[in-house]
Amino acid sequence: MDSCDLGYVYRTELPDGRVIKLPYRIALKQAAYYSAACIFHDEAPLPAVKGSHLCADCAEGLRKSVADIAESWTDLEAAMLPGGRAASSEPVSGGKELYPPLPINTDVADVRERIRSIVWCIVGQLIQDLPDRKLPADQSAGVLASWLLNWHVGYLVTHPSANHLRAVSLDLAAVAWEARGVIYRSKPVEVSVPSARCPQQVISKGPDGKTVSSPCPGEVLAVDPGDGRKVVRCSVDITHRVPADQWFYTHANRRPGRARAALAKKYLKVGK
Ligand SMILES: [Zn+2]
Ligand SMILES: [Zn+2]
Repeated sequence: MDSCDLGYVYRTELPDGRVIKLPYRIALKQAAYYSAACIFHDEAPLPAVKGSHLCADCAEGLRKSVADIAESWTDLEAAMLPGGRAASSEPVSGGKELYPPLPINTDVADVRERIRSIVWCIVGQLIQDLPDRKLPADQSAGVLASWLLNWHVGYLVTHPSANHLRAVSLDLAAVAWEARGVIYRSKPVEVSVPSARCPQQVISKGPDGKTVSSPCPGEVLAVDPGDGRKVVRCSVDITHRVPADQWFYTHANRRPGRARAALAKKYLKVGK
């Protein structure tokens, strides 16, 4: 990422026109002499907020990108796992694993990696410029993004390096956009299949201590976890799942039409 080129000293134009390199705090004192135009509108210049590099709209856009990233972090964590389930969710006991554990959603993992990278570029530059700033104890990218949002947007928009600000603004806007996209796409969609019972057996201990096997009380849910692998699974035990096409083939095909047609239309997109 362009925004990751850390600087120690900044090219600074003095009021008399001389250009020199100064460390952050001294360079920042020259902020009153920053260009009067926002750095983002080459063709139709707009005035920047005094002492910063951005117009009010672009500053708000930057703030919104950081806010979106902070807010999406937990959703991204959930979205990384198929069906949007938390990493810690234990398989329900007695369930038979019919389908191998699903891999993480790599699109989401990639976006999380990019968020981590841009957030740490900003934070890395910030602690170099302002070594006395204390970082939050929790240094997940989501917490750091909130910290930047609450305390350091001003630091960014007035940064002596307009290039740093330009690069981070563009990168933040891009990853915030990607984050919204993958979260939207990975929202699991669940539809219950009318009057279809889970075909699995549940093993439990009877009162006499012997294991007994009984039909699973779960209903059948068709789930689109957003990773392109539609599955049919049980409402009670998430380990009771089979690929949707297989389920439709072995079970639903034998059922009279209506439910199957509705589902097939919704899920398999095969028309009526
Ligand atoms: Zn602007
Ligand atoms: Zn079940």
